[in-house]
Amino acid sequence: MHTATPLHTAVSDLPPSSQAAEPNLFGLDQTRMQDFFAAHGEKPFRATQLLKWIHQQGVTDFNVMTNISKTLRQHLTDIATLHPPQEITRQTSQDGTRKWLLQVDQGNAIETVLIPETERNTLCISSQVGCALDCQFCSTARQGFNRNLSVAEIIGQLWMAEHSLRQEQGFTVPNAQPSGPYRMISNVVLMGMGEPLLNFDNVVSAMKIMMNDYAYGLSWRRITLSTAGVVPALDRLREECRVNLALSLHAPDDDLRDELVPLNKKYPLKELIPACQRYLGDDTRRRVTIEYVLLKGVNDSPQQARALVKLLRHLPSKVNLIPFNPFPQSGYERSTPKSIELFRDILIKADLITVTRKTRGEDIDAACGQLAGKVQDRSRRERRFSTSTSGVNS
Ligand code: SAH
Repeated sequence: MHTATPLHTAVSDLPPSSQAAEPNLFGLDQTRMQDFFAAHGEKPFRATQLLKWIHQQGVTDFNVMTNISKTLRQHLTDIATLHPPQEITRQTSQDGTRKWLLQVDQGNAIETVLIPETERNTLCISSQVGCALDCQFCSTARQGFNRNLSVAEIIGQLWMAEHSLRQEQGFTVPNAQPSGPYRMISNVVLMGMGEPLLNFDNVVSAMKIMMNDYAYGLSWRRITLSTAGVVPALDRLREECRVNLALSLHAPDDDLRDELVPLNKKYPLKELIPACQRYLGDDTRRRVTIEYVLLKGVNDSPQQARALVKLLRHLPSKVNLIPFNPFPQSGYERSTPKSIELFRDILIKADLITVTRKTRGEDIDAACGQLAGKVQDRSRRERRFSTSTSGVNS
């Protein structure tokens, strides 16, 4: 038997060949899996076999992979590992929303949320442990930044949700295929903890596994990446993996956005909006989802609604108005239903597609912006908010 690479060191899934650590095959997309097999003298089709076993069948034991020879299975056991993230807890909200707390290393856990709807099951996944961006209204920001998640840890969230739901439904290997009636997760949003574009390579690689027909086979329409607006990375994303884009805007002008989303000081609106336009290009099927958390007395006035209309004039978009979800010492309040309605009506009258997002999973702290996992608090805010729960809200 091999000795497994401790999970907490496996931030990169395929270590440089100079290192002795075994790669976690969980985190290899098709190209990397082929490279891995090529380096061991095996044909490229081994990569698709492995992808199918891991992601379609949910298998984590090489010995179960019956279309692979016994010798190769033994060899794989010696040279590689297969580690999904470890589940710590699972909670279900009264409205059916579920939240998993997953251990990613000794000091850190991340959160993944399933939002069931009539027509689809959306999984909200995390891309980093904590977040460096310091958006003022977001609970994850309180923890500061710990580290990027590896590809295995990102795709592992989908694997875990997909296969534990299948098990609950009584679908068993080897008959459960990823499409048709067996597919449990229909949509993925990268809107959990962290800024996905600041963990670019790992996020793109994980999205490639999501889209791969030998794995989850999700189309680009079913994957949405949400960003606070890392402009150079948007151009790269367009080239490398052009999924749906959501932009966390939250303010119609630079002064207010500088305050709410400090990243705006680096990439102000005059750069950000054109970057979104470039992302869409001439593809008329595409729109940017604009996320706008409504904070009472801060960004929810009719005047600000009109400024937003003006800002989005030349950007094909749909606006998601998100009632603020409070957390201890956030310093903000949710806008009143009346001002939310007024704000929405101004946008709709100006022909902007606008929906007010329903808050889900509040009773289990699974609502937007409440994901805090259980991480080592690396922020200076810890002192400022010393009476808070230091980022542990689950
Ligand atoms: N860093 C990425 C993804 C994580 S935040 C981004 O900025 O888009 C994802 C979304 O969570 C944000 O757009 C925001 O809409 C929402 N959010 C954050 N804090 C929130 C809060 N307290 N209440 C409601 N929504 C919140």
